[in-house]
Amino acid sequence: MARTVLVTGGNRGIGLAIAQAFAKQGDRVAITHRSGDAPGGLFGVRADVTDATSIDAAFTAVEAELGPVEVLVANAGMTDDTLLLRMSEEQFTGVVDTNLTGAFRVAKRASGKMLRAKWGRMIFISSVVGLSGGAGQVNYAASKAGLVGVARSITRELGSRNITANVVAPGFIDTDMTAGLPDDRKAEIRKSIPAGRMASPDEVAAVVTWLASDSAGYVSGAVIPVDGGLGMGH
Ligand code: NDP
Repeated sequence: MARTVLVTGGNRGIGLAIAQAFAKQGDRVAITHRSGDAPGGLFGVRADVTDATSIDAAFTAVEAELGPVEVLVANAGMTDDTLLLRMSEEQFTGVVDTNLTGAFRVAKRASGKMLRAKWGRMIFISSVVGLSGGAGQVNYAASKAGLVGVARSITRELGSRNITANVVAPGFIDTDMTAGLPDDRKAEIRKSIPAGRMASPDEVAAVVTWLASDSAGYVSGAVIPVDGGLGMGH
């Protein structure tokens, strides 16, 4: 059954791969983007997840064009790494505002229509770093760990209405976010991953589309790693 899907930050990287995977299986897919045009074949709406008004306008546009959002993928995210001693309060709150509060804003906006429909899927893109921590990433790790509490609380609040909320925790994925890492750091990372390689965004997308499917209806409040074994033990 075709669903209406909204992927935040779906104009590139993991979000784009997720959006394309849903489109490929015949769903109606909208993505948010902050600048430029939406990638071909996808319905684009401008939104900044730090701004509740722009989120509301984006949802309204998606609802008018494709119908109420049935599957929400909260993917938009950023890093602003530095060591704790040097991290300003703005660097901390800025990352949390995008990655965690941004996810809260879109989940809140999506929940009303999902409750009415008595069906919904929310998928939060976290990170292995949210569970393991990362040097220089106090802000990012805190924001990504927070998504676990968000998904699990939503599961408790809305679980009886056929609404699931899950977290996907990718390891190192080949996108713009990791492209900037120096080659020696990349080699070091590869050595620490049991799979011995970084993943492609499609490998994250495959797990997200499954979580949104009817077959995954009894999976909620779960944290699913897609990390080649990097975070084992959490
Ligand atoms: P990219 O940097 O390639 O893309 C980030 C996306 O988020 C872009 O679409 C960007 O939009 C969007 N975005 C950032 N800030 C905002 C905002 N304030 N409002 C709306 N959209 C915003 O990252 P990835 O594709 O690699 O990452 C996607 C998600 O996966 C992130 O949440 C990231 O933390 C997570 N992740 C990534 C990993 C990796 O190894 N790459 C590993 C683990 C988790 P714009 O184009 O306008 O900037």
